Amino acid sequence: MIYLDAAATSAVRREVLEAMWPYLTGDFGNPSSHHGVGESAARALADARATVASWLGCRASEVVFTSGGTEADNLAVKGIAIASPRGRHIVTTPIEHEAVLASADYLARQHGFTVDVTPVGRDGLVDVDAFAALLRPDTTLASVMLANNEVGTVQPIAELAAMTRELRIPFHTDAVQAAGWLPLDVGSLGVDALSISGHKLGAPKGIGALYVRGRIPVEPVLHGGGQERGRRSGTENVAGAVGLAAAVRLATEHQAANALAATTARDAFVAAVLAEVPDARLTGHPSSRLPGTASFVFPGSNGETILLELERRGVVSSSGSACAAGSEDASHVLLALGYDEDVARTAVRFSWGPEVDAATLASVAPAVGDAVREVAGLRR
Ligand code: PLP
Repeated sequence: MIYLDAAATSAVRREVLEAMWPYLTGDFGNPSSHHGVGESAARALADARATVASWLGCRASEVVFTSGGTEADNLAVKGIAIASPRGRHIVTTPIEHEAVLASADYLARQHGFTVDVTPVGRDGLVDVDAFAALLRPDTTLASVMLANNEVGTVQPIAELAAMTRELRIPFHTDAVQAAGWLPLDVGSLGVDALSISGHKLGAPKGIGALYVRGRIPVEPVLHGGGQERGRRSGTENVAGAVGLAAAVRLATEHQAANALAATTARDAFVAAVLAEVPDARLTGHPSSRLPGTASFVFPGSNGETILLELERRGVVSSSGSACAAGSEDASHVLLALGYDEDVARTAVRFSWGPEVDAATLASVAPAVGDAVREVAGLRR
């Protein structure tokens, strides 16, 4: 099987599991407990926090461990917006992950917020001028993802964040898909909050983190024992945090070289797919995109049927967001990029991690051609 659905999730890496093992067995303590087993867990948690903080270029106290990307996004959007005395206005984009969009929708329904979405171009890039025009004195939060999970477009986050900083509006970015590929230094990005998720990086599902700049107040989403400096109650997932830190160390070791190699392999793969299927179109931005994502529409075909044909040929991919998989709805991302609903339903996303080499990707392009031709034959 060639697994090209890394944007949905990745396997836990052996080194990650080995790092976690002691904290699931002998050192299983609760980090809040005042005995040896608990203190050992607390030290491991502190070490993991320090690793994540050094990756993000922030203070350890600014890292909040969460159960994943969804919770990190919920905490950022709801927590910062509700805690802010500025007003009840949020600016985001129509192509955010559901975790951001549904949190914004919750604020609108339950807390009287107004939510403005910035238009995006056909390439998925946010319209910078339109974004600037939406910012108001009562804007409590701007949230724009670093890289899109369906089409892979990478946004000019530093430029957008600079605009909000001038107006003292907190800026959150969902970096779940960018993690491992792009540098996430929060100082260079100029962001006040940033979400990551372990299972996209080779750590297990159920661990993630939110960076929140020290001075920004956050209303918790989970109330309870006051862990994570009161920002996220609940006994910490110590083994998960240790695993996340191990995954971060592995991902950052060769990040620039991995990204470069994957970009070259991706561009060759895109060219090969377009040669196999002349009607196919790459979605998202041609160059400002994730090294490990290539997504296409195949007008006149059917995305779900192509996926089945690809799986018969040993290639596992996706029609877009795993969260939308199985639903009848066309992708909200492709619709926001201006694709017609019938074309949006022909989408196929290929996404991979650094372990997938150029030769493997090259071997997939003919299978894509075969699968699309097979579907065309089936539909005649
Ligand atoms: N944000 C983005 C951009 C994602 O792609 C995902 C997951 O696919 C999430 C948030 C949610 O992360 P998690 O699955 O860890 O809840």
